[in-house]
Amino acid sequence: MTPSSVLAKILGYKQAHPLAYRIFIKLISLSLLLALVSTSIQVYNEYRRERVALQQQTDFITSSHIEGIRKGLWDLDQEQLLLQLKGIMNFSNVNAVMLHSQDWQEDIVVGDVPEKVSQTYGTTFDIYYEDRDGQLTSRLLGELTVYHDMAAIQSRLLRSAVEIALFQSGLVLVNGLLLLLIVHFMVTRHLEYMSRYTRSIGAGNLKQTLRLPHKKKAAQDDELDAVVNALNDMREAILEDIKQKDRIEAELRYHRDQLQEQVLRRTQRLQDAKEAAEQANKAKSQFLATMSHEIKTPLNGILGMVELLQRTDQAAANQEKLDAIYQSGDALLEILNGLLDYARLEEGMYCPEMSVFSIQELVSSTSLLFSAQAKAQNSQIAVNISDELAKQYYGGAGALRQILSNLVSNAIKFTEAGTVTITVMPANDPDHSDGVFFEVEDTGIGISEDYLTQIFERFSQADESITRRFGGTGLGLAITAQLVNVLQGEIGVTSDVGHGSLFWFYVPLAHIPAETRHAPAQLETVLPSLPSMSILLVEDTPINQAVTMELLRQDGHRVTLAENGTQALAAMASDPFDLILMDIHLPNMSGLEIAQRIRSESGVNQHTPVVALTANVQPSNVQKCHAAGIWAVLPKPFKQESLQQIMRTQTAPSTSLKETQGDSELIDPVLLRSHLSALGEQRLRKLLISLEHAMAEGLTDLKQMHAEQDDYEVADIAHRLAGDADAVGALQLANLLRQLETAANVGQLNDFEHLVTTLQHSVRNTLAEFDAILA
Ligand code: ADP
Repeated sequence: MTPSSVLAKILGYKQAHPLAYRIFIKLISLSLLLALVSTSIQVYNEYRRERVALQQQTDFITSSHIEGIRKGLWDLDQEQLLLQLKGIMNFSNVNAVMLHSQDWQEDIVVGDVPEKVSQTYGTTFDIYYEDRDGQLTSRLLGELTVYHDMAAIQSRLLRSAVEIALFQSGLVLVNGLLLLLIVHFMVTRHLEYMSRYTRSIGAGNLKQTLRLPHKKKAAQDDELDAVVNALNDMREAILEDIKQKDRIEAELRYHRDQLQEQVLRRTQRLQDAKEAAEQANKAKSQFLATMSHEIKTPLNGILGMVELLQRTDQAAANQEKLDAIYQSGDALLEILNGLLDYARLEEGMYCPEMSVFSIQELVSSTSLLFSAQAKAQNSQIAVNISDELAKQYYGGAGALRQILSNLVSNAIKFTEAGTVTITVMPANDPDHSDGVFFEVEDTGIGISEDYLTQIFERFSQADESITRRFGGTGLGLAITAQLVNVLQGEIGVTSDVGHGSLFWFYVPLAHIPAETRHAPAQLETVLPSLPSMSILLVEDTPINQAVTMELLRQDGHRVTLAENGTQALAAMASDPFDLILMDIHLPNMSGLEIAQRIRSESGVNQHTPVVALTANVQPSNVQKCHAAGIWAVLPKPFKQESLQQIMRTQTAPSTSLKETQGDSELIDPVLLRSHLSALGEQRLRKLLISLEHAMAEGLTDLKQMHAEQDDYEVADIAHRLAGDADAVGALQLANLLRQLETAANVGQLNDFEHLVTTLQHSVRNTLAEFDAILA
C-alpha cells in the first residue's frame, strides 16, 4: 500500500462518513495532546530522580572516601590518594576526579576532565584537617572535585522520553481506531440508514416500517431506538394525513359531480324556458306584425276617404275636423309602421340595403329634415363633422339614416330651447378599425339612471309623466338598437337628469378610396354632375336661405337671392336664369302667384324651369303648383341629393332627350328612394295616384287641344305633365312629354297620334313599375 493510496482512502472515508471522521480526528488530537503532557510529566520526574541519585551518590562518596583522602593528604601518601580516587571513579556516571592541594605542585587527576562545562556536572568538596579529638579545623588540606557525565544522563532521559511518547501515541491511535469502529457500527451506519429511509419517505415510499438492519434489540430502548420510533410515528401520521386528504377529495369530487349535474339540469330547464319564451315572443311579434298589417289596410281606406272629403268643398269647421282625423290617422299609421319595422327586425327578416353614400350628405340632410321641428321647440341643431371622414362609404345607408333620425328626433323631442349636437368622426381606435362614430347630444331633460339600463328595450319609456307629456310608443330606441345590431355596430347612452343626454353609436363602414371616381355600378346609380348654373332662389326664412345657398354653392352654382315676390320679379325682369327655386309660403305674394306671373308675362324667364320648395306635398297642393306653371315640387326639408336630382331633371336640354327616348329608364331609383324616405310609402302612393289621374286627364286634354289645333295649349299641357312626371322620378314619361312639348312649340306635331300611344304605354309601364318596386 503506497502512501498516496492511504491518503486517498482517508479522504474517501472523510467524504463518506464525515461525522465519524470528525469524531476520530478530534479524539486523536486530544489524546495526542494528553499523551504529550503525560510524557513531559514522566520525563520531568525521571530527571528529578536522576538529580536525587546524583546527590545521593555525592553524599555517599563523601562519606566513604573523604576520610581516606584526608589521611592521604596528611600523610602525603600519593598512592593512597590515587587508590582512593580510582575508587571514586568506580561510581557510575563519574567521569573524572581531581584533587587539588597547596602541598602538591600538580593536581592529581584520574579520568578525563571534560572541556565543555555544559556537559559537566562537577561537585567540589573542601577537605579540612581533623584534630585529635576528631574535630574539624579550619586548616584546608585540599579540594576534591568529582565530575559526572551529564551527556550520558541526558541521552538516557531523551531515550526514555521518546519511548514513552511512542508508546502513548500508539495507544492513543489504537484507542481512536477502536472508538471509530465502535462509533461507526453503533451510531453512524444507523444514522446513514435512517437518512436513506427518510429520503425514501420523502419520495413517497411510505409502505415500509423503519427497522435498523444491524441493530440488536436491547432490553431497554436507546437514543437510536427513540429516533427510529419517532420516524415510524411520523410515517404513520403522514399515511393518516394522506388517507384523510383522499377522503376529503373524494367527498369534494362527489359534491362537485352532484353540483354539475344540478347545473346541467337547471341549464336545460332554463334553456327550455328560454326557447319557450322566444317562441312566445316570436308568436307575439308575428301577431303584432299581422295585426299592424291588418289595421293598416282599413286605416288606408279611412285616410283615403278623408282625403277625398278634404278635396271637396267643406265648411271650415268640417275641414278642421277632417284635418284632425287625417293627422290622427297619419300618426296611427306611423305607429303601425314602427311596429312592423320592429317585428321585421326582431324576426331577422330585415336586411339592410347596401350602397355607396356620403356621410356628410346623410348627416346634413338629416339635420335639415329636423330643422323645422327643432325650430318649433326653440332649439337648434349643430353639426360637427370631422374632416378626417372619407368622402364616400359603403354600407347600409338607409338603416344608418333611420338610426340617426330616431336619435335626433328624440333629442329634439326631449329638448326645449336648447341645442342638439350631431358629431361624426372616424373610429380610429384599435377596437373599431374602419368604422364611424356618431354622437347625438342634447341639452334636454335627461334620463334617470334607473331607466338608462332598459332604455333600448321595446315599449320602454322613462315614466308615465313623460309618456303623457311627450307621447310615443317606446319602440323608437328598440328599433334603433336593433338596426345598429343589424349593421354589426354598438350603441350606448350616457345622461345627466336635467342637463341632457348623449347617445352614441358606432357602425363598421368601408370607406371608398378617394381615387375611386365612380362607385361600382351595382352599388349606386352614378349620375353625371351638373354644369354650373345661374339660379334664382326665392326664399324668406334666413335659415332656409343659408342652407339652400350653401348646398347650391357647394355644387358650383351662382345664386341670386330674392326674399319676396317683388324682389323676385325685379330680378327676373333683367337677368335670365337657368333655374328658379321657389318657396311657396312667402309674405304678400305666394310662390304660386309669382310662378303664374312668370309664365303669363313674356320675359327672359318665361320658359325657365321653376321648382317649388314646400313642406306641403299633399297631392292637392302639388297639383296647384303644376297648375301655376311650376314644373316640379321638392319636399321640404330636402337633402342635397334630392335637390341635385330634381335640378338634373328640370334643366336637362330637351334636344338630348330625343336620343334617350327609346331606351331611357322608366324610373329614377335615386329620386324614388329619397322620396320614400322623405315622404313615406303612404304619401308616395298618394302622389302616384294623383299622377295617374293627372296623366289620364292630361292625355284627354292633349287630344282635345290637338283636335282644336291649339299647339300652344298642347305644349303647355305637355310641359305641366312632364313636371308632374319629373316630380316622382318617372324619367321616360317626362322625356316623352318634353319631346311632345318641343314638337308643339315648333309646330311639328305630325306624329302626334304615335306619340300619344307611346305616352299611354309609358304611363301604364311606369305605374306598373312603381307598384312592383313599392310592393
Ligand atoms: P318613444 O317613441 O316613446 O320616444 P323611444 O324608444 O324613442 O320611444 O324612447 C323611449 C324613451 O326614452 C322615451 O320615452 C324617453 O323617456 C326616453 N328618451 C329617449 N331619448 C331621450 C332623450 N334624448 N332625452 C331624454 N329622454 C329620452
